[in-house]
Amino acid sequence: MNIQRVGVVGAGTMGNGIAHVFARGGFHVVLCDVEQRFLDRALGMIAKNLDREVSKNKITADDKASALARIRPATDRGQLSDCDFVIEAATEKFDIKTEIFRDLDRVTRPEIILASNTSSISITKLAALTKRPEKVIGMHFFNPVPVMKLVEVIRGLATSQETFTVVRDLSVKLEKTPVEVNDAPGFVSNRVLMPLLNEAMYTVMEGVATAEAVDEVFKLGMNHPMGPLTLADFIGLDVCLDIMRVLQNGLGDPKYRPCPLLIKMVDAGWLGRKSGRGFYTY
Ligand code: NAD
Repeated sequence: MNIQRVGVVGAGTMGNGIAHVFARGGFHVVLCDVEQRFLDRALGMIAKNLDREVSKNKITADDKASALARIRPATDRGQLSDCDFVIEAATEKFDIKTEIFRDLDRVTRPEIILASNTSSISITKLAALTKRPEKVIGMHFFNPVPVMKLVEVIRGLATSQETFTVVRDLSVKLEKTPVEVNDAPGFVSNRVLMPLLNEAMYTVMEGVATAEAVDEVFKLGMNHPMGPLTLADFIGLDVCLDIMRVLQNGLGDPKYRPCPLLIKMVDAGWLGRKSGRGFYTY
């Protein structure tokens, strides 16, 4: 299929980054959210991030202007009817994604692929909400999208080889590196990363070391650019807790038990960078 026009549903942190890389890559983009103010915020963010690329001589000012001109904001999902591919990057709640996938199945052409950027919801379940499960796939970008190279391409149980190939090739066109993964709780990225962060929290809770010391061990000993507790604060402790629960419920192994300190901090509203306090204060 010749993909020229791409729909992005959800214009938050990930949606604006995804719209940015598609528009920069020459695709026309229809960017959807529920309210105009979220679209305005996203367009402002995209312009700012494109400016940064201009100042680093990665793109020209003309490239920036033409990328922005290719993005059409919309609050009406009917505007997705002429899209050749749609990726959903809305809030990580199954109810919200259920409504979106049912509606996308209705408003888009039946032959197009519907992708989700979900971090933890089953692609197989999202596919089963549609009449085209063989055309539903995970396309999992990483934050910040314009910078991070990886795309986890996740096959649901029913995803066809053709759908996989299209999304793999699309990722390459966006100058990303696709990695093939099968649908399972947390896929590969969060299945491996979150238990590491959770275990780092246990070491702090048990008084084995301070957060600063744990982070130093990983930065200096393992060459991680950021220690696990700094990273947890960056991701958001509520998001970390949600993902641990997905692993715990989905895999049923007690080794995925969320650290009690993590639960307590989320209860206190200490969500990391976004709330001003987590393992560090901001
Ligand atoms: P966010 O909260 O920044 O943005 C979500 C956006 O979705 C908001 O603008 C919200 O208004 C919009 N939205 C909610 N309901 C909608 C609906 N019915 N129709 C259209 N838009 C709707 O969230 P985010 O961090 O951008 O996460 C989006 C998705 O990307 C989630 O599935 C998340 O798991 C995944 N993800 C996040 C990260 C990350 O680091 N933040 C990384 C990879 C994947």
